[in-house]
Amino acid sequence: MQDISVEQAVDMLLGRTKEIEDVERVPLDHALGRVLAEDMRAPFPNPPFDRSPLDGYTFAAEATKGATERDPVRLAVVGEECAGAFYAKRVVLGTAVRIMTGGAIPAGCDCVVRQEDVLFEAGGITVPYELHHHENYCFAGEDVAEGALLARQGEELSAAHIGVLASLGFAELPVYRRLRVAIASTGDELMLPGTPLAPGKIYNSNLYLLSSRLREMGFDPMVLGILPDDAERAAALIARYREKADLFLTTGGVSVGKKDIMHGVVKTIGERLFWRVCMKPGAPAIGYTSGTMLGIALSGNPFASYATFELLVRPVLAKFARRASVLVHHARGVLADAFPKKSLGRRFIRAHFDAGTGRVTLPEQHASGTLSGLARCNAFVEIPAGTSALKAGAEVDVVLLK
Ligand code: AMP
Ligand code: MG
Repeated sequence: MQDISVEQAVDMLLGRTKEIEDVERVPLDHALGRVLAEDMRAPFPNPPFDRSPLDGYTFAAEATKGATERDPVRLAVVGEECAGAFYAKRVVLGTAVRIMTGGAIPAGCDCVVRQEDVLFEAGGITVPYELHHHENYCFAGEDVAEGALLARQGEELSAAHIGVLASLGFAELPVYRRLRVAIASTGDELMLPGTPLAPGKIYNSNLYLLSSRLREMGFDPMVLGILPDDAERAAALIARYREKADLFLTTGGVSVGKKDIMHGVVKTIGERLFWRVCMKPGAPAIGYTSGTMLGIALSGNPFASYATFELLVRPVLAKFARRASVLVHHARGVLADAFPKKSLGRRFIRAHFDAGTGRVTLPEQHASGTLSGLARCNAFVEIPAGTSALKAGAEVDVVLLK
Protein backbone atom coordinates (compact mmCIF):
# COMPACT_ATOMS: atom_id res chain seq x y z
CA MET A 1 0.00 0.00 0.00
CA GLN A 2 1.35 3.42 -0.95
CA ASP A 3 1.71 6.13 1.66
CA ILE A 4 -1.08 8.65 1.44
CA SER A 5 -1.20 12.31 2.39
CA VAL A 6 -2.72 13.59 5.62
CA GLU A 7 -5.57 15.02 3.57
CA GLN A 8 -6.23 11.70 1.83
CA ALA A 9 -6.17 9.85 5.13
CA VAL A 10 -8.64 12.34 6.60
CA ASP A 11 -10.89 11.97 3.55
CA MET A 12 -10.85 8.19 3.90
CA LEU A 13 -11.75 8.45 7.57
CA LEU A 14 -14.48 11.01 6.90
CA GLY A 15 -15.89 8.67 4.26
CA ARG A 16 -16.60 6.24 7.10
CA THR A 17 -17.76 8.85 9.62
CA LYS A 18 -21.50 9.36 9.94
CA GLU A 19 -22.88 12.38 11.71
CA ILE A 20 -24.66 11.29 14.88
CA GLU A 21 -28.43 11.31 14.39
CA ASP A 22 -29.78 9.98 17.70
CA VAL A 23 -31.44 12.70 19.72
CA GLU A 24 -31.94 12.86 23.47
CA ARG A 25 -33.43 15.42 25.81
CA VAL A 26 -31.16 16.78 28.51
CA PRO A 27 -31.87 19.11 31.43
CA LEU A 28 -30.93 22.69 30.70
CA ASP A 29 -28.00 22.68 33.09
CA HIS A 30 -26.46 19.66 31.37
CA ALA A 31 -26.77 21.11 27.90
CA LEU A 32 -23.64 23.28 27.80
CA GLY A 33 -21.51 22.41 24.76
CA ARG A 34 -24.07 19.94 23.41
CA VAL A 35 -25.30 20.25 19.83
CA LEU A 36 -28.89 21.31 19.43
CA ALA A 37 -31.00 18.88 17.40
CA GLU A 38 -33.94 21.21 16.61
CA ASP A 39 -34.53 24.91 15.98
CA MET A 40 -35.76 26.49 19.21
CA ARG A 41 -38.41 29.19 18.95
CA ALA A 42 -39.92 31.42 21.59
CA PRO A 43 -43.25 29.95 22.82
CA PHE A 44 -44.37 33.39 24.08
CA PRO A 45 -43.15 36.98 23.90
CA ASN A 46 -40.54 37.93 26.49
CA PRO A 47 -40.86 39.75 28.78
CA PRO A 48 -44.32 38.24 29.02
CA PHE A 49 -45.97 41.52 30.13
CA ASP A 50 -45.32 45.26 29.97
CA ARG A 51 -43.15 46.13 32.97
CA SER A 52 -41.29 48.83 34.81
CA PRO A 53 -37.56 49.29 34.12
CA LEU A 54 -36.98 51.08 37.44
CA ASP A 55 -38.17 51.69 40.97
CA GLY A 56 -40.74 54.49 40.95
CA TYR A 57 -44.41 55.26 40.45
CA THR A 58 -46.66 54.32 37.56
CA PHE A 59 -49.75 56.20 36.38
CA ALA A 60 -51.32 57.65 33.24
CA ALA A 61 -48.91 60.19 31.69
CA GLU A 62 -51.90 62.34 30.75
CA ALA A 63 -52.30 63.30 34.43
CA THR A 64 -48.97 65.18 34.37
CA LYS A 65 -49.88 67.45 31.47
CA GLY A 66 -48.52 70.96 32.15
CA ALA A 67 -46.58 69.92 35.29
CA THR A 68 -43.49 72.03 36.06
CA GLU A 69 -41.25 72.43 39.04
CA ARG A 70 -43.15 75.56 40.00
CA ASP A 71 -46.52 74.05 39.31
CA PRO A 72 -46.20 70.30 39.97
CA VAL A 73 -48.98 67.75 39.77
CA ARG A 74 -50.05 65.79 42.81
CA LEU A 75 -51.17 62.16 42.46
CA ALA A 76 -52.63 60.02 45.21
CA VAL A 77 -50.73 56.73 45.67
CA VAL A 78 -53.35 53.99 45.80
CA GLY A 79 -51.21 50.88 45.99
CA GLU A 80 -47.85 49.21 45.67
CA GLU A 81 -46.51 46.49 43.43
CA CYS A 82 -43.18 44.66 43.71
CA ALA A 83 -41.73 42.41 40.99
CA GLY A 84 -43.57 39.11 41.02
CA ALA A 85 -46.81 40.57 42.36
CA PHE A 86 -49.70 41.56 40.12
CA TYR A 87 -51.78 44.69 40.70
CA ALA A 88 -55.11 43.57 39.32
CA LYS A 89 -57.18 46.74 39.73
CA ARG A 90 -57.45 49.48 37.14
CA VAL A 91 -55.60 52.65 38.15
CA VAL A 92 -57.80 55.66 37.59
CA LEU A 93 -56.57 58.90 36.09
CA GLY A 94 -54.94 61.14 38.68
CA THR A 95 -53.76 58.31 40.93
CA ALA A 96 -50.51 56.32 40.96
CA VAL A 97 -49.13 52.96 42.11
CA ARG A 98 -45.67 52.56 43.60
CA ILE A 99 -43.87 50.02 41.40
CA MET A 100 -40.52 48.24 41.64
CA THR A 101 -38.18 47.24 38.78
CA GLY A 102 -39.75 44.30 36.92
CA GLY A 103 -43.27 44.92 38.20
CA ALA A 104 -46.09 44.51 35.67
CA ILE A 105 -47.58 47.83 34.59
CA PRO A 106 -51.20 47.88 35.86
CA ALA A 107 -54.15 48.70 33.62
CA GLY A 108 -54.69 52.44 33.35
CA CYS A 109 -50.95 53.27 33.52
CA ASP A 110 -48.63 54.05 30.61
CA CYS A 111 -45.45 55.48 32.16
CA VAL A 112 -43.16 55.29 35.19
CA VAL A 113 -41.48 58.13 37.01
CA ARG A 114 -38.24 57.53 38.85
CA GLN A 115 -38.70 57.41 42.63
CA GLU A 116 -35.84 59.92 43.11
CA ASP A 117 -37.60 62.49 40.87
CA VAL A 118 -40.73 62.87 42.97
CA LEU A 119 -41.58 63.85 46.50
CA PHE A 120 -43.68 61.41 48.50
CA GLU A 121 -45.64 62.77 51.40
CA ALA A 122 -49.03 62.32 52.97
CA GLY A 123 -50.06 59.38 50.76
CA GLY A 124 -49.29 61.08 47.47
CA ILE A 125 -46.50 62.13 45.13
CA THR A 126 -45.63 65.50 43.69
CA VAL A 127 -44.49 65.18 40.07
CA PRO A 128 -42.46 68.20 38.87
CA TYR A 129 -42.50 67.58 35.11
CA GLU A 130 -44.59 66.13 32.31
CA LEU A 131 -44.20 62.45 31.51
CA HIS A 132 -44.79 61.10 28.03
CA HIS A 133 -46.84 58.14 26.95
CA HIS A 134 -44.55 55.07 27.41
CA GLU A 135 -41.79 56.97 29.21
CA ASN A 136 -39.63 54.56 31.27
CA TYR A 137 -41.62 51.64 29.98
CA CYS A 138 -40.63 48.10 28.91
CA PHE A 139 -42.88 46.40 26.41
CA ALA A 140 -43.95 42.76 26.42
CA GLY A 141 -41.88 40.95 23.77
CA GLU A 142 -39.25 43.68 23.54
CA ASP A 143 -36.51 41.11 24.28
CA VAL A 144 -37.95 38.25 22.22
CA ALA A 145 -41.03 38.24 19.98
CA GLU A 146 -43.26 35.19 20.10
CA GLY A 147 -41.98 32.62 17.59
CA ALA A 148 -38.53 34.22 17.27
CA LEU A 149 -35.63 31.85 16.57
CA LEU A 150 -33.59 31.52 19.76
CA ALA A 151 -31.05 28.89 18.66
CA ARG A 152 -30.60 26.86 15.52
CA GLN A 153 -30.39 23.13 15.00
CA GLY A 154 -26.68 22.27 14.80
CA GLU A 155 -25.51 25.06 17.09
CA GLU A 156 -23.25 24.23 20.01
CA LEU A 157 -25.00 25.46 23.10
CA SER A 158 -23.14 28.23 24.91
CA ALA A 159 -23.87 29.71 28.31
CA ALA A 160 -25.62 32.59 26.53
CA HIS A 161 -27.90 30.20 24.59
CA ILE A 162 -28.78 28.41 27.80
CA GLY A 163 -29.61 31.68 29.54
CA VAL A 164 -31.88 32.75 26.68
CA LEU A 165 -33.62 29.36 26.55
CA ALA A 166 -34.10 29.41 30.33
CA SER A 167 -35.74 32.84 30.04
CA LEU A 168 -38.29 31.26 27.72
CA GLY A 169 -39.01 28.47 30.17
CA PHE A 170 -37.34 25.48 28.51
CA ALA A 171 -36.40 22.89 31.15
CA GLU A 172 -34.96 20.33 28.73
CA LEU A 173 -33.35 20.64 25.34
CA PRO A 174 -33.22 18.22 22.39
CA VAL A 175 -29.57 17.52 21.61
CA TYR A 176 -27.68 14.93 19.59
CA ARG A 177 -26.38 12.13 21.73
CA ARG A 178 -22.77 12.32 22.75
CA LEU A 179 -20.08 10.78 20.61
CA ARG A 180 -19.00 7.45 22.06
CA VAL A 181 -15.24 7.45 21.79
CA ALA A 182 -13.13 4.77 23.44
CA ILE A 183 -9.40 5.10 23.97
CA ALA A 184 -6.73 2.59 24.98
CA SER A 185 -2.96 2.28 24.79
CA THR A 186 -1.04 -0.77 23.67
CA GLY A 187 2.32 -1.66 25.12
CA ASP A 188 3.63 -4.23 27.60
CA GLU A 189 6.16 -1.63 28.74
CA LEU A 190 3.44 0.67 30.04
CA MET A 191 2.44 1.16 33.64
CA LEU A 192 -0.21 3.43 35.02
CA PRO A 193 0.96 6.34 37.16
CA GLY A 194 0.46 5.43 40.81
CA THR A 195 2.35 2.13 40.66
CA PRO A 196 6.14 1.96 41.28
CA LEU A 197 8.06 1.85 38.03
CA ALA A 198 9.57 -1.59 37.33
CA PRO A 199 12.85 -1.94 35.37
CA GLY A 200 12.39 -1.38 31.66
CA LYS A 201 8.90 0.02 32.10
CA ILE A 202 7.62 3.54 31.47
CA TYR A 203 4.52 5.33 32.55
CA ASN A 204 1.67 5.55 30.10
CA SER A 205 1.42 9.18 29.09
CA ASN A 206 -0.50 8.88 25.83
CA LEU A 207 -3.65 7.61 27.46
CA TYR A 208 -3.82 10.59 29.78
CA LEU A 209 -2.67 13.11 27.21
CA LEU A 210 -5.26 12.12 24.62
CA SER A 211 -8.16 11.40 26.96
CA SER A 212 -7.57 14.81 28.56
CA ARG A 213 -7.36 16.39 25.13
CA LEU A 214 -10.74 14.84 24.31
CA ARG A 215 -12.15 16.28 27.50
CA GLU A 216 -10.65 19.69 26.72
CA MET A 217 -12.66 19.55 23.52
CA GLY A 218 -15.85 18.71 25.42
CA PHE A 219 -15.97 14.96 24.74
CA ASP A 220 -16.51 12.33 27.38
CA PRO A 221 -14.23 9.43 26.42
CA MET A 222 -14.38 5.85 27.66
CA VAL A 223 -10.82 5.46 28.93
CA LEU A 224 -10.02 1.77 28.82
CA GLY A 225 -6.41 1.56 29.99
CA ILE A 226 -3.67 -0.62 28.58
CA LEU A 227 -4.14 -3.37 25.99
CA PRO A 228 -1.59 -6.21 26.07
CA ASP A 229 0.88 -6.58 23.21
CA ASP A 230 -1.03 -9.65 22.11
CA ALA A 231 -3.00 -9.26 18.91
CA GLU A 232 -5.62 -11.87 19.74
CA ARG A 233 -6.41 -10.54 23.19
CA ALA A 234 -6.31 -6.92 22.04
CA ALA A 235 -8.59 -7.75 19.10
CA ALA A 236 -11.10 -9.48 21.36
CA LEU A 237 -11.16 -6.49 23.66
CA ILE A 238 -11.55 -3.92 20.89
CA ALA A 239 -14.27 -6.02 19.20
CA ARG A 240 -16.31 -5.83 22.39
CA TYR A 241 -16.73 -2.11 21.77
CA ARG A 242 -18.19 -2.48 18.29
CA GLU A 243 -21.70 -1.84 19.57
CA LYS A 244 -20.63 0.55 22.31
CA ALA A 245 -18.36 2.99 20.54
CA ASP A 246 -18.50 5.08 17.38
CA LEU A 247 -14.75 5.57 17.39
CA PHE A 248 -11.96 3.50 18.92
CA LEU A 249 -8.58 5.17 19.37
CA THR A 250 -5.41 3.34 20.28
CA THR A 251 -1.78 4.35 20.52
CA GLY A 252 1.22 2.17 19.82
CA GLY A 253 1.83 -1.05 17.94
CA VAL A 254 1.47 0.27 14.39
CA SER A 255 5.02 0.18 13.05
CA VAL A 256 7.06 -2.82 11.88
CA GLY A 257 8.40 -4.07 15.22
CA LYS A 258 7.85 -7.53 16.65
CA LYS A 259 5.19 -6.25 19.05
CA ASP A 260 3.40 -4.03 16.58
CA ILE A 261 0.17 -5.90 17.08
CA MET A 262 -2.33 -3.51 15.55
CA HIS A 263 -1.83 -4.99 12.08
CA GLY A 264 -2.93 -8.37 13.41
CA VAL A 265 -5.79 -6.78 15.32
CA VAL A 266 -7.13 -5.05 12.24
CA LYS A 267 -6.85 -8.25 10.20
CA THR A 268 -8.88 -10.15 12.78
CA ILE A 269 -11.66 -7.71 13.54
CA GLY A 270 -11.89 -5.25 10.72
CA GLU A 271 -11.13 -3.78 7.37
CA ARG A 272 -8.08 -1.61 6.91
CA LEU A 273 -8.61 1.76 5.22
CA PHE A 274 -4.96 2.80 5.18
CA TRP A 275 -1.62 2.29 6.82
CA ARG A 276 1.08 4.96 6.72
CA VAL A 277 0.53 8.62 6.15
CA CYS A 278 3.11 11.00 4.67
CA MET A 279 3.88 12.94 7.83
CA LYS A 280 6.54 13.08 10.46
CA PRO A 281 6.02 12.20 13.22
CA GLY A 282 3.30 9.57 13.32
CA ALA A 283 3.58 8.14 9.80
CA PRO A 284 2.56 4.57 10.62
CA ALA A 285 -1.02 5.41 11.66
CA ILE A 286 -3.72 2.90 10.64
CA GLY A 287 -7.31 3.71 9.76
CA TYR A 288 -9.79 0.83 9.94
CA THR A 289 -13.38 -0.12 10.48
CA SER A 290 -14.70 -2.90 12.67
CA GLY A 291 -18.40 -3.39 12.08
CA THR A 292 -19.92 0.06 12.31
CA MET A 293 -17.11 1.31 14.55
CA LEU A 294 -14.32 3.39 13.10
CA GLY A 295 -10.83 2.74 14.45
CA ILE A 296 -7.75 4.92 14.32
CA ALA A 297 -4.53 3.40 15.55
CA LEU A 298 -1.96 6.10 16.28
CA SER A 299 1.71 5.49 16.72
CA GLY A 300 3.05 5.14 20.23
CA ASN A 301 5.69 7.84 20.50
CA PRO A 302 4.03 10.43 22.69
CA PHE A 303 4.43 13.41 20.40
CA ALA A 304 3.58 11.28 17.36
CA SER A 305 0.36 10.17 19.01
CA TYR A 306 -0.44 13.78 19.81
CA ALA A 307 0.33 15.09 16.32
CA THR A 308 -1.71 12.39 14.61
CA PHE A 309 -4.55 12.93 17.06
CA GLU A 310 -4.63 16.62 16.16
CA LEU A 311 -4.34 16.10 12.42
CA LEU A 312 -6.23 12.86 11.74
CA VAL A 313 -8.64 12.44 14.63
CA ARG A 314 -9.96 15.97 15.12
CA PRO A 315 -11.70 16.18 11.74
CA VAL A 316 -13.38 12.85 12.50
CA LEU A 317 -14.52 14.05 15.92
CA ALA A 318 -15.86 17.24 14.34
CA LYS A 319 -17.92 15.36 11.76
CA PHE A 320 -19.28 12.66 14.09
CA ALA A 321 -20.29 15.23 16.68
CA ARG A 322 -21.35 17.94 14.19
CA ARG A 323 -18.97 20.35 15.90
CA ALA A 324 -17.04 22.58 13.52
CA SER A 325 -15.45 24.18 16.59
CA VAL A 326 -13.30 21.06 16.94
CA LEU A 327 -11.51 21.74 13.64
CA VAL A 328 -8.05 23.31 13.66
CA HIS A 329 -7.29 26.71 12.16
CA HIS A 330 -4.35 27.75 10.05
CA ALA A 331 -2.21 30.88 10.09
CA ARG A 332 1.10 32.22 8.87
CA GLY A 333 3.82 33.02 11.36
CA VAL A 334 7.47 34.03 11.57
CA LEU A 335 10.00 31.75 13.24
CA ALA A 336 11.79 33.32 16.18
CA ASP A 337 14.03 30.26 16.49
CA ALA A 338 15.90 28.35 13.83
CA PHE A 339 14.94 24.76 13.02
CA PRO A 340 18.25 23.19 11.96
CA LYS A 341 17.01 19.90 10.44
CA LYS A 342 16.26 19.19 6.81
CA SER A 343 12.77 17.85 6.18
CA LEU A 344 12.72 15.19 3.50
CA GLY A 345 9.04 14.49 4.12
CA ARG A 346 6.25 16.74 5.38
CA ARG A 347 6.93 17.48 9.01
CA PHE A 348 4.96 18.94 11.90
CA ILE A 349 6.84 20.36 14.87
CA ARG A 350 5.36 21.67 18.08
CA ALA A 351 5.55 25.41 18.62
CA HIS A 352 4.14 28.37 20.45
CA PHE A 353 2.31 30.87 18.24
CA ASP A 354 1.69 34.40 19.47
CA ALA A 355 -1.50 35.50 17.74
CA GLY A 356 -0.76 39.17 18.39
CA THR A 357 2.65 39.28 16.73
CA GLY A 358 2.67 36.13 14.62
CA ARG A 359 5.91 35.13 16.36
CA VAL A 360 6.57 31.39 16.47
CA THR A 361 8.88 30.01 19.14
CA LEU A 362 10.11 26.41 19.29
CA PRO A 363 10.78 24.38 22.44
CA GLU A 364 14.24 22.86 22.80
CA GLN A 365 12.93 19.31 22.47
CA HIS A 366 11.09 18.35 19.35
CA ALA A 367 11.85 14.63 18.91
CA SER A 368 8.70 12.53 18.66
CA GLY A 369 9.60 10.49 21.75
CA THR A 370 9.79 13.57 23.97
CA LEU A 371 6.85 15.28 25.52
CA SER A 372 8.16 17.84 27.99
CA GLY A 373 8.07 20.88 25.68
CA LEU A 374 4.42 20.34 24.77
CA ALA A 375 2.91 22.10 27.75
CA ARG A 376 3.95 25.51 26.47
CA CYS A 377 2.90 24.82 22.87
CA ASN A 378 -0.35 25.74 21.18
CA ALA A 379 0.48 25.07 17.54
CA PHE A 380 2.38 23.04 15.00
CA VAL A 381 4.69 24.49 12.41
CA GLU A 382 4.04 22.67 9.18
CA ILE A 383 7.21 22.15 7.14
CA PRO A 384 6.66 21.01 3.54
CA ALA A 385 8.55 18.00 2.17
CA GLY A 386 11.94 18.92 0.72
CA THR A 387 12.58 21.93 2.97
CA SER A 388 16.14 22.59 4.09
CA ALA A 389 17.03 23.94 7.54
CA LEU A 390 14.91 26.93 8.56
CA LYS A 391 16.49 30.12 9.83
CA ALA A 392 15.01 32.44 12.42
CA GLY A 393 12.89 34.96 10.52
CA ALA A 394 11.52 32.39 8.07
CA GLU A 395 7.81 32.62 7.28
CA VAL A 396 6.00 29.39 8.09
CA ASP A 397 2.55 27.77 8.00
CA VAL A 398 1.12 27.25 11.43
CA VAL A 399 -1.62 24.87 12.57
CA LEU A 400 -3.45 26.38 15.55
CA LEU A 401 -4.48 23.79 18.07
CA LYS A 402 -6.64 25.58 20.62
P1 AMP B 1 5.27 1.72 19.53
O1 AMP B 1 4.60 2.56 18.51
O2 AMP B 1 4.33 0.85 20.29
O3 AMP B 1 6.41 0.96 18.95
O4 AMP B 1 5.91 2.71 20.58
C1 AMP B 1 6.86 3.67 20.18
C2 AMP B 1 7.52 4.29 21.38
O5 AMP B 1 6.56 4.99 22.13
C3 AMP B 1 8.12 3.30 22.36
O6 AMP B 1 9.29 3.90 22.90
C4 AMP B 1 7.07 3.15 23.41
O7 AMP B 1 7.58 2.74 24.65
C5 AMP B 1 6.50 4.54 23.47
N1 AMP B 1 5.11 4.48 23.89
C6 AMP B 1 4.18 3.70 23.34
N2 AMP B 1 3.00 3.89 23.94
C7 AMP B 1 3.22 4.81 24.91
C8 AMP B 1 2.38 5.41 25.86
N3 AMP B 1 1.08 5.10 25.95
N4 AMP B 1 2.91 6.32 26.70
C9 AMP B 1 4.22 6.65 26.60
N5 AMP B 1 5.05 6.13 25.70
C10 AMP B 1 4.58 5.20 24.86
MG1 MG C 1 4.40 -0.85 21.41
